[in-house]
Amino acid sequence: MRFTKSKKLFRQASALLPGGVNSPVRAFRAVGGNPVFIKSAKGSRLYDVDGNSYIDYVLSWGPMVVGHSHPKVVAALKKAVENGTSFGAPTPLEITLAEMVLSAYPSIEKVRMVNSGTEATMSAIRAARGFTGRDRIIKFEGCYHGHADGLLVKAGSGATTFGVPDSPGVPKSYAKNTITVPFNDVKAVKNVIEKDWKSIACVIVEPVVGNIGCVLPKPGFLENLRKLTRKYGIVLIFDEVMTGFRVAYGGAQAAFGIKPDLTCLGKVIGGGLPVGAYGGKKEIMSMIAPEGPVYQAGTLSGNPLAMTAGIETLKILSKGGAYEKLLGRSAELEEALKDAAKRAGAVVKFYRAGSMFCTYFTGKEVVDYETAKLADTKKFASFFARMLSNGINLAPSQFEAGFMSLAHSRRDIDETARAAYDSFRRV
Ligand SMILES: *Cc1c(COP(=O)(O)O)cnc(C)c1O
Repeated sequence: MRFTKSKKLFRQASALLPGGVNSPVRAFRAVGGNPVFIKSAKGSRLYDVDGNSYIDYVLSWGPMVVGHSHPKVVAALKKAVENGTSFGAPTPLEITLAEMVLSAYPSIEKVRMVNSGTEATMSAIRAARGFTGRDRIIKFEGCYHGHADGLLVKAGSGATTFGVPDSPGVPKSYAKNTITVPFNDVKAVKNVIEKDWKSIACVIVEPVVGNIGCVLPKPGFLENLRKLTRKYGIVLIFDEVMTGFRVAYGGAQAAFGIKPDLTCLGKVIGGGLPVGAYGGKKEIMSMIAPEGPVYQAGTLSGNPLAMTAGIETLKILSKGGAYEKLLGRSAELEEALKDAAKRAGAVVKFYRAGSMFCTYFTGKEVVDYETAKLADTKKFASFFARMLSNGINLAPSQFEAGFMSLAHSRRDIDETARAAYDSFRRV
């Protein structure tokens, strides 16, 4: 494979954009080498500017669950564009997407559309604070909830990749309202809540932690969060920006049978356009302006193109058999990758929740941030590079999840397994 054009473009971009990119992990710093510049994408495949093609397991970091450039999504978008790209006034499309979200998430009684996952979590926390009249929040080490000040504390994802869990530029006075505890550690949460509940507005959690790979909740962990928060009048927020419509159509809350007070969504519900959403109990959502006093607004919120891409994506996903197919393919991939690792004698742990997964280069079970950090990032980097040159696009960091789509075929999986065997062997 040649990367001549990508290399040239990265030099150009690096003079113009910090690190040559508009979002940090894209720059390949965690794995070394040069990021690949993309020209187009179709189905399960990405095509770069040098003419190489890849089977894609990044899927724009999750949103492209029906595959890239799905003909139905593209056709609907073309039609929508003709009607105008933004009005700053309500449209029927917002009702349609809201109805789809509410019917898939019984815990959501009212929803507000925003433009990113970051906005969704930031606004949900503001709603929780407004509702409870309390200031502090509890989050879990390694959970990423977007880059709002106060949430960039032990935040996984890019932050873990770069080893700067606490970003400069976040005032200590913000961070001090954020209490962090280890994921899967009920005792730690209980201790904090029993001591300080009067000042705690909410507990925010990724029910499956996708921003340090793919860490599953231990049986009882989410149930206990639900019990504790209910007992002390604390708002329980599930950040399902990644897991929503991905772990199951109804998200992790459907998969694990827990009803949070507020839910944050993003990624899949935008179908590849910029969207986020937060919603939940009526009495909390009624706090949001103009119904209530908690201010939150957006020039482009509910954008007609973004709503259209989201609606079309959810339509495809909600068709009979679509989820069974997605989860079936994901299970086949799991089996193929585990088998490749075993045959190659690679020491790895593989985890999967629905259609998201992670292969950790470690022999120890990964249950939280500390155990995730034991993974061998050098081995991952060499695996990543070999996979890429074999035409398989993985996220360029050990601490990111991989994603499956409806467009991935059995042949894609076979090709991936062959590349994985070769790559595991060389690590
Ligand atoms: C991606 C992500 C976010 C942030 O969403 P953006 O659209 O990148 O702002 C928040 N929470 C979780 C769980 C995510 O995976």
